[in-house]
Amino acid sequence: MSGDDCTACEMVGNICIPEQTTTPPKASMTAPARPQKRASAECARTREETPTKRPKPALRKAKVEAQRAPPGNTTTIITKLCHPIIFNNEPADGTNTCNFCDGSSMAILGLEQKAVQVIAWENGRGLREVSGGHKAEGHPSTRVCTPCTMQRMPIIMCSKHVLLPIPGTASRILDADGALTALFAGEIRKKDRWCSICPALASYECETAQEDTGAFGTEGRGCGLQLCETCMPSLAGVYDGDLQAMLGELTDESSNERPLGLRADFELLKQDGLLTRYVLWASEQ
Ligand SMILES: [Zn+2]
Ligand SMILES: [Zn+2]
Ligand SMILES: [Zn+2]
Ligand SMILES: [Zn+2]
Repeated sequence: MSGDDCTACEMVGNICIPEQTTTPPKASMTAPARPQKRASAECARTREETPTKRPKPALRKAKVEAQRAPPGNTTTIITKLCHPIIFNNEPADGTNTCNFCDGSSMAILGLEQKAVQVIAWENGRGLREVSGGHKAEGHPSTRVCTPCTMQRMPIIMCSKHVLLPIPGTASRILDADGALTALFAGEIRKKDRWCSICPALASYECETAQEDTGAFGTEGRGCGLQLCETCMPSLAGVYDGDLQAMLGELTDESSNERPLGLRADFELLKQDGLLTRYVLWASEQ
């Protein structure tokens, strides 16, 4: 039942995504990307059948540090979140004030999209809004609890996303209208599972079993990546399974493919994003 079980992919006719060439962020701190471990005949065949509209991207930069803006410099980002984002947010009084799992639509729709001038602080792991931001309008920092922070790491570190249909979604029509109506009313219904990248219901999930490090509470389960009918074929076909390349090229704006743009939190799945930087920083404390 591992991610390398390509025979199983073949048998049920699923799309098997070739192994990523990117390494998990921890490894990328010290070592260049590993070569692909193996490419079975089944995988190779699947790859040939998959339309590839762009070349395999170059290997990611080896060091996260290299991608950090020099401290003290202001840059402008497009964001729907309020910075600095507070990760691993655990208030001392025990209340849950997480904006991502409080049943609200914040993780998906976020605040109004803004071009915000920011300054990097504390070794690049956070951004302070300088001007044009949500802080200036009186919004508090976006708060993300520890489970919501750590649950995203297996997606970022997954060695090879193997996407299979979510049981039940193929046989029944998803209530997309109801889901979106609730979303725009500010709520996420418990029964809805959303795409990790855009505001659409997910039909596929990664089945790649994660190493049981105990750190992320995901023993034996998939990495957590869930994709919709638009993002799954895009990742498999256009980006050859390289989620990081896909996230690097997508921009959060309305398009024919994704009329609602992207999720407010999509950038947090980036290997060099704020969440990864925070987790790496926290692990060194
Ligand atoms: Zn395969
Ligand atoms: Zn949470
Ligand atoms: Zn995965
Ligand atoms: Zn999507």
